[in-house]
Amino acid sequence: MSAQILDGAKIRDEIFGELKSEIAKLSGQGIRPGLAAVLVGENPASQLYVKSKIAACEQLGMASGLHTPPASVSTEYLLELIQDLNEDDHVDGILLQLPLPAQVDAKRVLEAVDPTKDVDGFHPTNLGRLVSNRPGLVACTPAGCMEILRRYKIPIEGANAVVLGRSDIVGKPMGLLLMHANATVTICHSKTREIADVVRRADIVIAAMGRAGSVQADWIKAGAAVIDVGTNKVTDSREAEGLLKNFPERLEKFKAKGNVLVGDVHPDALFTAGALSPVPGGVGPMTIAMLMSNTVKAARLRRGKSSASVARPS
Ligand code: NAP
Repeated sequence: MSAQILDGAKIRDEIFGELKSEIAKLSGQGIRPGLAAVLVGENPASQLYVKSKIAACEQLGMASGLHTPPASVSTEYLLELIQDLNEDDHVDGILLQLPLPAQVDAKRVLEAVDPTKDVDGFHPTNLGRLVSNRPGLVACTPAGCMEILRRYKIPIEGANAVVLGRSDIVGKPMGLLLMHANATVTICHSKTREIADVVRRADIVIAAMGRAGSVQADWIKAGAAVIDVGTNKVTDSREAEGLLKNFPERLEKFKAKGNVLVGDVHPDALFTAGALSPVPGGVGPMTIAMLMSNTVKAARLRRGKSSASVARPS
């Protein structure tokens, strides 16, 4: 039997619908939420991500601005740009697309963002609020994973949750959100021993390692919910054949295109998990939805407006 598909694109559309009503309410009060994106250099993947974020702003009737300093930019230049955006009252959210070039002190620049405009939830002030379970802006990808679990009514309280990966932007905040939702959380990383056995005990698995198809189908407990955060472009045909042997249509597409996007979970987990978020179409659309949600929330909070928000993890 196949797992239930946890459709991130469908939930994104639901959230966009809710945000549109909230944006209309704010508009009645003379407020138009606005996002400023900073895209350094010409990394094609970053360009694509930023383009889809700006398109989402346009779709929702939010204001957006794009700043594109060259790859040779200095830390000082970026600090000044962030300061200008912090002071600009039309800007509610500041998105600094990562990665930044090696010569830039990324931590210093991220810490210069006004925490009330930190819609990526990367600022230490917002991370600290998350640790102590106080309201703040929460990192979009883990917030999106929580929204998938909640909207599909996956039981979280008391569940054994295993998070694979401990990055500052996905694994760590993910573990905290699950813990605050009363799951019993285990966080695994590259030094974890017997990782397959740890995963086999999980009712909820969140895979965020950046390793194509590495979570094997037989690691998944029957009925477990699996959220696959990984986005890996596979170009090697033997690797693609190993991953997609049971998905002939996807394999044909790979052969025609020369690459395929796969998650960190082996596609065969579709036959062992109880529920599974697909790649693409799972966590990716949710990350954008939560960025939009955080920007609307920032617009409201900065102006002291209270209203029911879809940005629940706060
Ligand atoms: P990251 O910073 O590279 O962190 C990867 C984490 O995985 C590290 O904690 C690492 O452990 C752990 N890890 C690596 N190999 C492992 C292994 N064999 N066994 C167990 N743990 C292992 O990555 P990230 O930024 O968190 O992103 C993770 C994945 O999610 C990537 O594929 C990324 O593209 C994707 N992503 C998707 C979205 C989206 O919107 N869909 C958003 C963000 C990220 P150590 O700490 O020990 O090194």
